[in-house]
Amino acid sequence: MKTIGMLGGMSWESSADYYAALNRGVKQQLGGLHSAKVCMLSVDFAEIEQLQHAGDWQQLAEILAGQAAATERGGADFLLIATNTMHKVADEVEAAISIPLFHIADVTAEKLLADGVQKIGLLGTRFTMAEDFYKGRLTNKFGLQVLVPDAAQQDDVHRIIYEELCQGQVKDTSRQVYLKIIDNLFARGAEGVILGCTEIAMLVKPEHTTVPLYDTTALHAEGAVKLALQEDS
Ligand code: GLU
Repeated sequence: MKTIGMLGGMSWESSADYYAALNRGVKQQLGGLHSAKVCMLSVDFAEIEQLQHAGDWQQLAEILAGQAAATERGGADFLLIATNTMHKVADEVEAAISIPLFHIADVTAEKLLADGVQKIGLLGTRFTMAEDFYKGRLTNKFGLQVLVPDAAQQDDVHRIIYEELCQGQVKDTSRQVYLKIIDNLFARGAEGVILGCTEIAMLVKPEHTTVPLYDTTALHAEGAVKLALQEDS
């Protein structure tokens, strides 16, 4: 079994879900006492959030590149950045390591294509929804058409992520806000919605809506388990 490298803590709320999903996934495949081999480095998210909102992506790239290299030295065979947003610095991280980076947008896009989806809604932080590092990859590399909420809705989605979900707060009122935005994307022609922030699945689950949801945390972890077990199958 390969060792999964993971950059976590962004936020730790979703890293806990990742860690559980990696271990459950390996146990499901191998049974008994089997669990995932993981080399995880977890950051202090307060420092990361401050730099994000200050726009200091160079410093963020340096921090994550350093952590990635340490994860490789710790024995990781490939790397997960356990957040969608921080894939904004994926190129810099990739340049700092010699192990492969398992990109969260790629595994998500592959699932969408396998499901025959062409037009997809995207929820995430404002960085992920408004900038091109994520949407552009879905469009240019995979030919997907990506719809995002309008600016006011993006503000709500972004605020709820940082002020509530990343702090472990799951509120019914916020779920209603998200569901309305999801319905809106569906009405505009989206065949489903990417939960493109690793905390959103804490709030919105398939039982809350008939719109197909693509949970990036679950897809990333599932793909990582497959990759980790590949040499054994
Ligand atoms: N976990 C979130 C994401 O997937 C947001 C936190 C962050 O900015 O990293 O984008």
